[in-house]
Amino acid sequence: MRGALIVLGLLAAACTPQQAAPVGLPVPAPAVVAAPAPPPPPPLEIDCAGAFVQGGVVLCRTAPGAAFFVDGEERGAADADGWVVAGFDRDAKPQATLAVRTPAAAKAIDVAIAPRSYRISRINGLPQETVTPSAPEVLARIAQESAAKEEARKSRAPAPGFLQPFAWPVAGIMSSPWGAQRVLNGEPRSPHYGIDIAAPEGTPIVAPAPGIVAMANPDMHFEGGLVMIDHGQGLISYYLHMSRLDVTTGQAVVRGQQIGAVGKKGRATGPHLCWRMRWRDRNLDPSLAVQAMAEARTHFGGGPPLDPGAAPPNFTPWTPAP
Ligand SMILES: [Zn+2]
Repeated sequence: MRGALIVLGLLAAACTPQQAAPVGLPVPAPAVVAAPAPPPPPPLEIDCAGAFVQGGVVLCRTAPGAAFFVDGEERGAADADGWVVAGFDRDAKPQATLAVRTPAAAKAIDVAIAPRSYRISRINGLPQETVTPSAPEVLARIAQESAAKEEARKSRAPAPGFLQPFAWPVAGIMSSPWGAQRVLNGEPRSPHYGIDIAAPEGTPIVAPAPGIVAMANPDMHFEGGLVMIDHGQGLISYYLHMSRLDVTTGQAVVRGQQIGAVGKKGRATGPHLCWRMRWRDRNLDPSLAVQAMAEARTHFGGGPPLDPGAAPPNFTPWTPAP
């Protein structure tokens, strides 16, 4: 019955006034053309370049919008041009699996992550309330500030600042390396997830790459003046102990733009910038980003167009002999 109705419908459609055949002649059957088979989807690829080392950051290219996985865990998706950023923690295992998936295909690659050795760094003379806080009002303040940082970490800037080369944010002397095991006032503490760059109080600090200010707080218990810049896809850089902030939360910054000045506020013994970086829940070594992003851009044939932001000064810090 349903088939008959469809045939009647087709006949009715064929008998519109413009297409009516002369009475008595057979209606020509419509030509049947086989639809060409759709081309097979191109094979899904993923290509990555950068620092394949503990604390390192890499840039990958794959199909636009492909879901991205690290060691089987979904970690966002490629942007509209197929770019993805990823990072490896301080204690990352020697091998990681990077995978992408679209509705039509999946692809995984295994990458080797070079191990590093970390120094033990002993720092004495810190205000004890910043090493083992005990006063109830201090503990309440720390809890409130931790919650605010946790919230800021969820920031996901739509602009892909991570596609730009990264610059050093300040001129100075490397005074403490990234990843060192810390002993503060004689007490073992969690590793140092920052690079300390010693510089006189008031020395300008600039944004190393474009982004959105995810947090700007001039006075925190541990961090002192803190700025967090979201570079997109969960890549967020941190600037601690600042004496002055020149940006506010939510503000867009360009590469080379001054965001504040060096200070010694919070848990610090002298003026320096503690520069940190995270990718999602992983702690990265920001100094590796400077070289890794430049190498990745070269690997991908120059990379995306350069942001028109201010050209940052060459701030490569001086590293004293160990
Ligand atoms: Zn530090």
